[in-house]
Amino acid sequence: MEFSTFDFHPQIRQGITAAGYVSPTPIQAQAIPPILAGQDVMGLAQTGTGKTAAFALPVLQRLMKSRGGRVRALVVAPTRELAEQIHQAFCSLGAHTGLKSLTVYGGVSIRPQITALKRGVDIVVACPGRLLDHIENKHIDLSAVEALVLDEADQMFDMGFFPAIRRILGHLPKRRQTLLFSATMPDEIRRLSGEILATPITVRI
Ligand code: AMP
Repeated sequence: MEFSTFDFHPQIRQGITAAGYVSPTPIQAQAIPPILAGQDVMGLAQTGTGKTAAFALPVLQRLMKSRGGRVRALVVAPTRELAEQIHQAFCSLGAHTGLKSLTVYGGVSIRPQITALKRGVDIVVACPGRLLDHIENKHIDLSAVEALVLDEADQMFDMGFFPAIRRILGHLPKRRQTLLFSATMPDEIRRLSGEILATPITVRI
């Protein structure tokens, strides 16, 4: 199977080619079709499997269908390092799309994040604490979010982020596409999935 099987926008195909991807990895082959179809997906996959592109590519495709200027995709990740990696994937795969991604996490100055949010971005890749800070200080408007990705959900649970995540969820539109990725499926993840995913497709590798 090759990436050309998926009907990605030519500008996204350019990003795929530039990244040197020819064939989708197993998680990509399974997750991309339902995500493109707008379904909620629960993905059981570890890092190194290509899970980032599995959600980034169809999210980019979705964002190209509507007008830019507001945050339309939100990715929540447990660590700065992971947030940066996801942001880099959106930047490289989306290099020809004109879509803008921004990372939002603590431990760095908040000012540049506020300035960038004011200028307008399409995708925010955030860690929970700093994101809540921006929400509570009204630096970010999440009312136009169409797609939410929770990456490494089990890691976020272990790090005690679930209360923050539940508060973040309260600021998102109810009508949206939700994608949840986790390496393991403990009860807490199963419970959260049951609450926030609508008739999800489960993919596992
Ligand atoms: P991830 O699991 O998302 O952290 O991805 C692991 C690595 O695989 C990253 O360096 C990606 O750039 C790379 N990768 C993702 N998808 C593909 C693909 N379809 N073909 C080749 N490399 C890929």
